[in-house]
Order: sequence, then structure tokens, then C-alpha cells
Amino acid sequence: RSFKDHVIFERREVLTAAGGPYGVFTPYKNAWLRKLEPFYLSSYPVERYTAALAGTPLARGVPGLADIGFEPVELTPHLGRGSAGGEVLFQDFLDRMDRYHEARDFPAVKGPSYLSVHLRFGTVSIRRLAREAHGRMLAGDRGAEVWLSELIWRDFYHQVMHHHPHAMTGAFRPEYDAIRWESGPEAEALFAAWCEGRTGFPIVDAAMRQLKTTGYMHNRLRMVVASFLTKDLGLDWRWGERWFAEQLLDFDLAANNGGWQWASSSGCDAQPYFRIFNPVSQSEKFDAEGRFIRRYCPELAELSAKAIHAPWERAPLQMQGVDYPRPVVDHAAARERTLARYQVVKSRALPEP
Ligand SMILES: Cc1cc2nc3c(=O)[nH]c(=O)nc-3n(C[C@H](O)[C@H](O)[C@H](O)COP(=O)(O)OP(=O)(O)OC[C@H]3O[C@@H](n4cnc5c(N)ncnc54)[C@H](O)[C@@H]3O)c2cc1C
Repeated sequence: RSFKDHVIFERREVLTAAGGPYGVFTPYKNAWLRKLEPFYLSSYPVERYTAALAGTPLARGVPGLADIGFEPVELTPHLGRGSAGGEVLFQDFLDRMDRYHEARDFPAVKGPSYLSVHLRFGTVSIRRLAREAHGRMLAGDRGAEVWLSELIWRDFYHQVMHHHPHAMTGAFRPEYDAIRWESGPEAEALFAAWCEGRTGFPIVDAAMRQLKTTGYMHNRLRMVVASFLTKDLGLDWRWGERWFAEQLLDFDLAANNGGWQWASSSGCDAQPYFRIFNPVSQSEKFDAEGRFIRRYCPELAELSAKAIHAPWERAPLQMQGVDYPRPVVDHAAARERTLARYQVVKSRALPEP
């Protein structure tokens, strides 16, 4: 038996009028909101049942974290520890929730809640978070409305996994399995450069170094680096998915898989294959002053706000002697290769043997 505690609605709780699962987010979200009643947001009366809980972690056969493969790490202090740490973060976010929709896309700004690791391990209650956001949304708070949408995305991806378990290992839309990703030593070297944050694209490198050193990555940057891996480097999204699974403290199979398949366009309600992020324009738009880049790529700290997004192109003389790689790929050429690579999906033909 299993007991729902991780999401607001699970499995078959939100279905279409025909009784099937939703494959597109917005109608799912509307149905989710229609189904919501105070009951689903209220705290469970746990006090009545505490006697039934296991006394200590190892009592009655409940394995400890080490037994199921977790190792202790030095947690990034701002992510907080345990339910007390989750509570501190949530209290801090409550003061900022009304600005979430404006601040959430800028990695140098304290915009999101940073609660994902607590949602993963259950050290905050999803009902409590959704209750607060929903109440504020009804009072007209736009930030709360957008944040609640993100919590609904989380439920959405969980039910996608329930209804379409094949997406755990292959493309949600099977025709995307026909894509031929790059392979061999050169592809592996590019993958290593991506993992280690030395692609020569500062926003990508700063993001990958944030992941490596803190176990967290800002959502906008997850989208940028996932697009870069699949559509600039031409590498299989599963390589990136696996790296994220190893590195992210908030790793969640459904959200991670959903995010990767969104970026590679093979997912449910994914971005179209021809939408290819330009890493330099993303950098200029979301880290205009280069504050985030400077934090994780200190070797670029002296560059101007204009040069920092594409240092070798915009400040070649200043870059002489700086230990920072040249771009591993030409974005315009990679874009063309990707459009060609995805033709196999468009035509739904099988690739050449
Ligand atoms: C390629 C890729 C991989 C990702 N991998 C994960 C993962 O392994 N674990 C994970 O929790 N999220 C993942 N996400 C979603 C999102 O990036 C993180 O949930 C978010 O950055 C966590 O930071 P936060 O708690 O400050 O988010 P906030 O912006 O404060 O959002 C609040 C909560 O809403 C949920 N949420 C937000 N965005 C999404 C989303 N797009 N999909 C599903 N749930 C969402 C999360 O539980 C998050 O904690 C991934 C996104 C992408 C593009």
C-alpha cells in the first residue's frame, strides 16, 4: 500500500472528461484548480496517529538514508537543514512571494523559494505551501499565482510518470527516439566540458559550476544548460538527466525527466524542436550585468558587462593569458545541425542505418 503525502493530486485524481490523463499543462492546471477543495490543502491530523509511526529510523525495518544509498554532504547553508531549515526558507519566501513572477528568472537575484530539496525529502508540507499560495492567489496576488503554477507543474510531471512510465527511459513521444545523438570520444569530451563548466559559454559554465559546488541550479539555467547539451552539443538528453540526478540535491525523477524532455522537445507539452536557446542572448537577458557569471567564473570578473557574455569574441585581447576556454562549439552552426538532426522526427521516418 502507498499513502499520498508528496503531492496534492496523484495518479488518476485529475483526469480529462473522457477519463484519460492530461498531456498538456494548461488544461491540467485548470482541472487541478477546479478540483481543489479545502480538504486537499488542510494538514493531516497527524497527532491522532503518532503512535502508529516508527519510533526511530531503524525501528520496524525502516532503513536509514545511508542504507538506501545516500551519503552525507556539506549542505549549502542557505538551503537549510531538516524541517526547521525548511521553515526558515519558507518564512523568508513568504515576504517575497508577491514578486516571484518578476524575480524568478534572474539567477543573480533571490527570486525563487529554494524549497525544492525540502519538497524532495518531505521536510516541508506540500499542502502547507499550496494552501498559502492558493489563499494569496485568491486575494489577487500575481506572484503567488505563478508560484502555485510551479507547484502544479510538479504534480503534472508526477502524473505523467504514472501514466507514461516508458518516459523514464525513452522519449515521451516515441518518434523522438529516432534522433541520432552524437557519440564517440569527441562527444564524450564535449560532455565532460559541459559537466565541468568549461564550454567557453560563461552562462553555461557558471551554471554548471553552481551545480557542482552547491547541488542546486537556478531554474532558468537548468533550461539553458539542458538546451545547450541537446541542441548545441547534440548530446542525448539522458546523459544530462543522469548528471543532474547525481548532482542535484533536489533530484526528483519526474521533474528532472520532465525538464530534460521539455528541453529536448521530446516531452509532453515540451518546447518545439526549432526553439533553440541562444546561450549568449539568454545570458544578456537574464544576467545582464554578469553578476551571476562573476560569482562562479571569477577568472572573468574583470570583464565589462558587455564582454562577459561572449569573452573571446568581445574582449579577445583582455582574454589573452586568462585561463578560460574558447567556445567548444559555434552556436549558429550547431543550430543548423540540430534543425537537420530533428528532421527525422518531423518526417517520422526511420534514420538511415
Ligand atoms: C532540465 C531540468 C531539470 C530539472 N530537474 C529537477 C529536479 O530534479 N528536481 C526538481 O525538484 N525540479 C527540477 N526541475 C524544475 C525546477 O528547475 C526546480 O524545481 C527549481 O529550480 C527548484 O528551485 P526552487 O525550489 O527555488 O523553485 P521555485 O521556483 O521556488 O518553485 C517552487 C517549487 O515548484 C516546483 N517546480 C518549480 N518548477 C518546476 C518545474 N519546471 N517542474 C516541476 N516542478 C517545478 C519545485 O518543487 C519547486 O521547489 C528541473 C528543470 C529543468 C529545466
